[in-house]
Order: sequence, then structure tokens, then C-alpha cells
Amino acid sequence: MSEVIVSKFGSAACSTPEMIRRAAQIVMSNENRKYIVVSAPGSRSRDEVKMTDTLFILNSRYENREDFAAMMEQVRSRFIEIVRGLGVNFDVDAEISNLKKNLFFGKGNDFVVSRGEYIMAKIFAEYLGWKFIDAASFVIFNRDGTLDREKTFAEAEKVFNGVANAVIPGFYGSIGGTGIKLFPRGGGDTTAAIVARAVNASLCEKWSETTKVYSADPSIVDNPAVIRQLTYEELKQLTYMGINVFHEGVILLMQGIGIPITVRNIHDVDDEGTSVASELPADSKRGVAACIAGKRNYRIIHIEKFGLNRLTGIGQKIFSIFTERNIPCEHYLSGIYRFSVIVKNPLFDLKRAEILQAINDAVRPENIIVEKNLSLITVVGKGMGTVKGIFAKMFTGIANAGIKVRLIEQGTDDLNIIIGVYDDDYEAAVKAIYGAMILH
Ligand code: ASP
Repeated sequence: MSEVIVSKFGSAACSTPEMIRRAAQIVMSNENRKYIVVSAPGSRSRDEVKMTDTLFILNSRYENREDFAAMMEQVRSRFIEIVRGLGVNFDVDAEISNLKKNLFFGKGNDFVVSRGEYIMAKIFAEYLGWKFIDAASFVIFNRDGTLDREKTFAEAEKVFNGVANAVIPGFYGSIGGTGIKLFPRGGGDTTAAIVARAVNASLCEKWSETTKVYSADPSIVDNPAVIRQLTYEELKQLTYMGINVFHEGVILLMQGIGIPITVRNIHDVDDEGTSVASELPADSKRGVAACIAGKRNYRIIHIEKFGLNRLTGIGQKIFSIFTERNIPCEHYLSGIYRFSVIVKNPLFDLKRAEILQAINDAVRPENIIVEKNLSLITVVGKGMGTVKGIFAKMFTGIANAGIKVRLIEQGTDDLNIIIGVYDDDYEAAVKAIYGAMILH
């Protein structure tokens, strides 16, 4: 099977003519890179708003009958600068007048915002001398706003059939035949995944400026190791922990078909990045633990009642008290006469009195205890529940650092262990676990 790579260049890689040239060099350095998905230009400095956001504001100004001329000019001059810098022959003004026409015609927010990627992809295609394929021709949304996966895959296969190279705008598709609908933010990744599936790619890569995927928070651990290899299952756990390697939609799309994905850094082209596949490579030297992450400021609510173990429906009653108030029960643990729910603060404190009253009314417990200042630390890695001695390493490291473990939650999926420590011990615990598990 021939190697085909789909490359997504995020907003940083499309922010200036220099960055776009760099992206193009990356494309040209490997002839397997045949399909390119691009974002709208990103910000060039901390204070600059990225093009996608400018377009969001532009549209809302138009809808609120406010002056949007300056924003339109910002969009225009940004693209003019890119076109001039790249030396391509491209009529930016024609695109801008088309955008205006559709704005006045009431095409709506998603159309307006999508033009950031649309125009960028056309310019990139011109620069490479490649075909431009509009995402609206194959990414199809249902009327309810969900992706019509079947139609999308079928259309994508048709559209890419026989196309040797193409540049595709990310982030949007068509709805109801003529409308445009955006994916959630960062959704250009999903477009890349759809293309990868359609062309049966051997790899889907994402070039962004997101700092490397570290095995621990660099603000806590000095120079933590970069994670080089992950499985999709592990990646899902990382996403839950707030480490966004790839957009969630991609994981769901890619996992089923098993196309590996790689995250690369546009500012460090020689760095191999982080690769995600169904399984770790057979020769992988990675340890069991891939990553440590955590969060502070949880509350744990213990509900005590003698005979709790024999009662039915207690969990359901307690959970509904939280869900009715839109507070997710992040975790729960059950003892013999104790049921404990872990929730995030300040969500809990804002409704503390009414929640405790509701629990009292529903369960008639002997005691309710609220513990404060709890941090949760998750260690992710395949084998976390089955490899011999793995917990011994972890808890020895924590004990040697003089840290008390308040709770342990071991899921059954063999992918993670979660421990709770007091907030004051959080950083020391992360360091101790890193030293014990990632370095050894
Ligand atoms: N430009 C879009 C955003 O800012 C989509 C993307 O970059 O993937 O969210």
C-alpha cells in the first residue's frame, strides 16, 4: 500500500507568509504529504485576535447593526499581506466582495466565519499549484447539526477519487444543501480526520504551535519528558484531563479505523512529535505510565448511613441531586456505610446549603461530611491496573516524599489510577510520582 499523509496546518502555521512557506517546505519535503487541511490565519502576537475570532466579531457587529468596516478591512489586509508575501496571483478583493455579498444576503455566522479557512486554503492551493477542494462539497451535517457520517464518508471518497494532491479548508461543512455549518472550535482537526479516512491515509498529522505533549505539567516538574507514543485509549484519558492533543471528534473518528495520528510542532520541525495509534509499537521503550496530570480544588461529600450497603437506589437519589443542579459528579466511591461524591469547586460551594438539605431529605443520613481542598492526580498508561509492581513504585515514591494519600480510585479499564491528596501536597505529589514512575 502506498504511503499517504494528510497534514493539517493549524492557525499558527498559517499566520504569516514565512510560516506558510515553512508549512509548504514541510509538505514538499515528503512526497507522501498529498492532502493539506488548513486553518484560518492565527494571531501574530499575543494581542492580536486570530482571524476566526475577528470573523465571529465581524458577524455579530453586522447582526447588531454596528460598524464592521474596520474588521472587514482587517480580514482583507491580512490576506493581501499573505498573498503579497507569498508572491501568488490571487484576487483577495473578489473574495472579500463575495463575503460582503453573502453577509448582506444573510448567510449567517457560520458562513462568514468559515471564510477564514476557505480563503486561506485557496491561497495555499495557489501557492503549491495544487487543487482546492471545498470542505462543503463533502462534509455534510444533518439538520440537527450533527455530522452525517455516512454521507460525509461516501461523498469524501467520491470527491477525492483520482485527486493526486489537494488543499482543503478545515472547520466547516454544508448543511441543508446550501448552508454552511462550523464544527466546534478547533474542528479543523476533524476535517483532516475525514480526509484521512477518505483517502485511506497511512498517517494523519497535525502541525501546530501547541507546546509539546509533556508527561507532566512543566510548571511543576522541571523539563518533563515529552510523550512520544500514545494509544488512542490513553489519548482519550488525556483529553478528559484537559490535555488537548487532538480535537475530541478526531479521536472518535480515527480510533475505529486505526489510522495513526502525529502531532508536530511548527516551531521545531526536527522534533518527531507525539504519535497516537491503536497500539504502542512492538519495539516501544515507553514505560507503563505515560502521563501525570491533575487538578486542585475538589470537594468530597461523604454521606454516612448505617445499613447503606443494603439499601437500593441511594446512588441514584444522590446523583440526581447533583445533576438537577448541573454539577457533574466527577467520581464517586462507596464504603460500607459511606457513599462519597467528588465534585468540582466552586460549583459545589455556590449551592452547598441547598444540596446538603436535599441529601438530608432524600437519604436521611446520620452524617454528611464535606472535605475541602482536595486535589486529584491521574496517572495514565496502558497496564496501570495489570502490570506487577506498578503501584508499589507509585506509592513508595509518594510515601518517601512524606505525602498522605487521601483516596485511591482504580478504574477497571487498565488505563489509569486516580489518587486524591490535599491541595497543599499537590505539587510535591506530582513531582514524587513523576520521579517514581516516569523517570524509572
Ligand atoms: N480556526 C478554527 C478555530 O480557531 C478551527 C481550527 O483552527 O481548527 O477554532
